[in-house]
Amino acid sequence: MILLVADHNNGKPTKAALELVQAARDLGREGPITALVLGQNLAPVANELAKYVEQVLVADLPQLASYNPELWAAAVTQIAQEGEAHTVLISASRSGREYSARVAVKLDAPLLEDVIRVQDQGGALQGTKYAYLARVTEIYESSAPLTVVSVKPGAYNPAQPESTAGEQYDVELELPTSRTRSTGKVIEKTTRVPLTEADIVITGGRGLGSPEKFSSLIEGLADNLGAGVGATRAVVDAGWRPYGEQVGQTGKTVAPKAYIAIGVSGAVQHLSGMGKSKYIVAVNKDPEAPIFKNADYGIVGDLHQVIPALIDATQK
Ligand code: FAD
Repeated sequence: MILLVADHNNGKPTKAALELVQAARDLGREGPITALVLGQNLAPVANELAKYVEQVLVADLPQLASYNPELWAAAVTQIAQEGEAHTVLISASRSGREYSARVAVKLDAPLLEDVIRVQDQGGALQGTKYAYLARVTEIYESSAPLTVVSVKPGAYNPAQPESTAGEQYDVELELPTSRTRSTGKVIEKTTRVPLTEADIVITGGRGLGSPEKFSSLIEGLADNLGAGVGATRAVVDAGWRPYGEQVGQTGKTVAPKAYIAIGVSGAVQHLSGMGKSKYIVAVNKDPEAPIFKNADYGIVGDLHQVIPALIDATQK
């Protein structure tokens, strides 16, 4: 079987989980596509996932109430072994990168890490990934009977539901006593849609000129459009915005329906994090800015004039 670990949030599979489903479908390897969901009070997410996959394995345990790499690795390893999985798909999120390596070691399996594409080539598993700031695309092949694959968030489109619902099974797990535990969590208070889940992302670059202008113009437009807010590394390095908003090679990968880049030059490291967006709109005063080569729509102009006009036009 193809086993995928479905991340979830507020009772729903995340966009990254549905992207894994699409990766599994495209892969087309034999056996049922099986989603493993780990946590507590999982009925809503399991019901939702059943619309997308043939089997949902539900590990609903108090020890799994919050993420723990040791327990996640133990759970996934056990299920992969018992289900005789040939492929284990994990989202290459921050936590996914962490525990997927543990899973591969425990299973004595190769790890194709942070791939943007995974394919079956005559029985071998081929993973394609970016290297050297996305200037190079590397292809790795695994001929092992079982391979662990972590898939870059945003690399696939999220799957659409199937017409028939999949089966749900509760699974028993023998979990070790974890040697680490979470002692606290501070969640940033925001009503804004998370960057990687947003249909529209508005990203501001150094062209904004100041953190105050970033807040008033980028957040102002994002509020009107119900959009997520992103930032370039230049802006994050300057301390204007938190790292969690950084889009690009060393930040988040996003693939929204619309990506609006404002005062962003379009460096290759930035493009590698948003290049798969459906429509890219750029606002820049420099007609030669590289972002325009990748944009579907462009406005050449001073953002200090263009964005207030857009905010007015999109006022609810
Ligand atoms: P700039 O390149 O300074 O561009 C500002 C733009 O604003 C210019 O095009 C300018 O014409 C325009 N502008 C200025 N004033 C106005 C105005 N009034 N109206 C309209 N337009 C205006 N970058 C990322 O974003 N994400 C990453 O993950 C990332 N990872 C990196 C990893 C490495 C190893 C390295 C070396 C670099 C990385 N970078 C990353 C940095 C990247 O190379 C660029 O330096 C960065 O993206 C530039 O940010 P920017 O577009 O905001 O700034």
